[in-house]
Amino acid sequence: MADYKKPLPHPTAVTLPFWEAAKRHELQIQQCGSCRAYVFYPREVCSECLSPDMSWVQVSGKGILYSYTIAQAPTHSSFTEDVPYVIAIVELAEGPHITTNIVGCKIEDLKVNMPVVASFADVTPDITLVKFRPA
Ligand SMILES: [Zn+2]
Repeated sequence: MADYKKPLPHPTAVTLPFWEAAKRHELQIQQCGSCRAYVFYPREVCSECLSPDMSWVQVSGKGILYSYTIAQAPTHSSFTEDVPYVIAIVELAEGPHITTNIVGCKIEDLKVNMPVVASFADVTPDITLVKFRPA
């Protein structure tokens, strides 16, 4: 973990609750207090009604593989040894889409709409990445 060399997220005031939850191996996204929409990625106002009444809620971590691509060339030099790897969009059970990686699944076994569940990768003492694996 200490020698993790890939790009890392830089949490901001808006995104910090997501990263703090991930460190606890919990998936939290925002929910609008006005229209009740679940919202991801983190924002200052609701993407549906523009209300600033946003709060963080723990969600199931369950979803489906909405779409994916296979990276045959690294998207950054630090990913060279991972090629080929899966860049995916997961549709959470609560609705929002999250861009992620699929782990623990052979590429030939991937199927659009397959059930997936959040999987947490503790890559540094401060950062845990949220990936997904087959449910
Ligand atoms: Zn709203």
